Amino acid sequence: MQRAPGVVLAVYAHPDDADVACGGTLARWARDGSAVHLVVCTDGGKGTADPEVQPTRLVAERASELDAAAALIGLSSVESLGFPDGELTDSAAFRETLVARVRALRPDVVCGHDPTAVFFGQSYFNHRDHRIAGAALLDAVAPAAALPHYFPGAGPPHQVSTVLLSGTLEPDEWVDVSGTIEIKAAAVECHRTQFAGQGGWAGDAVRRRAAEEGRRAGAAYAEGFRRLTLHG
Ligand SMILES: [Zn+2]
Repeated sequence: MQRAPGVVLAVYAHPDDADVACGGTLARWARDGSAVHLVVCTDGGKGTADPEVQPTRLVAERASELDAAAALIGLSSVESLGFPDGELTDSAAFRETLVARVRALRPDVVCGHDPTAVFFGQSYFNHRDHRIAGAALLDAVAPAAALPHYFPGAGPPHQVSTVLLSGTLEPDEWVDVSGTIEIKAAAVECHRTQFAGQGGWAGDAVRRRAAEEGRRAGAAYAEGFRRLTLHG
């Protein structure tokens, strides 16, 4: 995955997820000529511990944070599906929406959440929306998007060849992001509602985490994924 794919589709649950998960990879590919598209499934309206923050206001703030980050990464398009935060459902309608995006954009590589990653150590478990978005995306990619009798009104079938799942407990593919780590750090810091008042903390955490993955990959900085290679 060190060479830039032609078309990339990233599908993530919340406005900050793609930047945290694979912002260095997406920025690298965009810089190297890929068309990189992002679909954000939920509006992020519950992503605060402050009861004084109104969800409608938070949604608007997070949308502008996302726009700023997308410009830094160099995304070709960003689409927000606008489902309520925390309430994502693995429904046929959701999968059909994802199938329609896959068939319209016809990506070579799809990136998303690893739905099998549940427990990270003893103090964090994976967000419900991440698990559901990841599972729905996998089912949308294969077999649904590739076969004509699934959602026949959602465009002509398309076989995705590569899926890269982030937030995984079983990485087996790494992308060297040494050249774009500062873009990633800046993109993550755009999400001020999520990392507010921490004065560069988010960027430091991004560098530290990518350096850990880099040690596994033989690079200064890397992002790790579980890779699936699909055949029609
Ligand atoms: Zn998230």
